[in-house]
Amino acid sequence: MDKVLKNKTIITIAPTGAWPKKENNPAVPMTPEEIAKDVYECWKAGAAVAHLHMRDDNGNGTMDKEKFKKTVELIKAYKDCDIILNLTTSGDLHATNETRQAHLKEIKPEMASYDCGSMNWLHTGLFLNPPAFLEELGKTMLDNEVKPEIEAFDPGMIANAAYYLKKGVLKAPLHFQFCMGCANGIPASMKNLVFMKETMDTLCPGSTWSCFGVGQSAMEMMYGAISMGGHIRVGMEDNVMFSKGVLAENNVQFVKRAKQAIELYGREVATPDEARQILGLK
Ligand code: MG
Repeated sequence: MDKVLKNKTIITIAPTGAWPKKENNPAVPMTPEEIAKDVYECWKAGAAVAHLHMRDDNGNGTMDKEKFKKTVELIKAYKDCDIILNLTTSGDLHATNETRQAHLKEIKPEMASYDCGSMNWLHTGLFLNPPAFLEELGKTMLDNEVKPEIEAFDPGMIANAAYYLKKGVLKAPLHFQFCMGCANGIPASMKNLVFMKETMDTLCPGSTWSCFGVGQSAMEMMYGAISMGGHIRVGMEDNVMFSKGVLAENNVQFVKRAKQAIELYGREVATPDEARQILGLK
C-alpha cells in the first residue's frame, strides 16, 4: 500500500444495530428515512463506511430485504454521497439462512458482515453461524462481488477465517472487524486487542482490520486501534452513551470525535475512495 494510504484511518459508522431502542436512546435511527438521513450526516462528518441494520415496524431487528432496499435507495438519492455500504447478514437471531443473504443478491452492496463462528448472545440466545451457512454465505458474497467484513468476537473466529481462506470460501486480502467486549466474546483490553491483531497477522497475513469496543471499553479500543494502525467503528449499534452517564445526541457526534482523535494522533481520515483502495474494493 502506498505511503499516503498507510496514514489513513477508515471510520465506519454503525448507526442502529439490532438491539438499542428509542427507550435506550431516543436518537437511535430506526426507519429507512431516519437511517438514510443519519448516514448522510455521518458521511459529511467523515465516515467512509456505513454498517447497516434494519428494524421492523415494532423496532425489532429484521432481515426484511424491502427495508434494506428502501434505505439504500434513500442513501443513493443523496447524489453527492459516495459512502461504502456494508449491510449486516445478522440482523435478527430468528432469520433463516435464506433471509440472511437475500438482500445481498438483490442489492449487491460493496460490503457485508460475515460472522465467522457461533456464540451465545447477550446471555439470552444463540447466535448461530454453522459451517454449512458460512460456506454458503461465502459463496453468495463471491458470486455477487460483496466484500466480507469478517466479524471476529474472539480469536477462534480468526482461526476459522484462516480455514475458509484456505478452502477458497473467502478470498484474500481479508478485512476483519474485531468486536471487543461483547458478552460471551473476548473481553475488551489492550492486551486482548494486541493478541487479536497478532493472531490475524500470523494466521491471515496481509489482512486489514478495524475494531470497536462496546460500553465502557469504547474509548480504549478506539485509541488502541488508531495507535496500532487499525481502522475504527463507532455509533449507536455499539454504544448509546457518548460518555459515562451521558446519552449520545446522535451518531454524528461519534464520527466527529473519532475524526478528532485520528487527527490529534497525527493520522488522517480516509475518504470513501481511499477506503475502497485500502480494502481492495472494486
Ligand atoms: Mg452489526
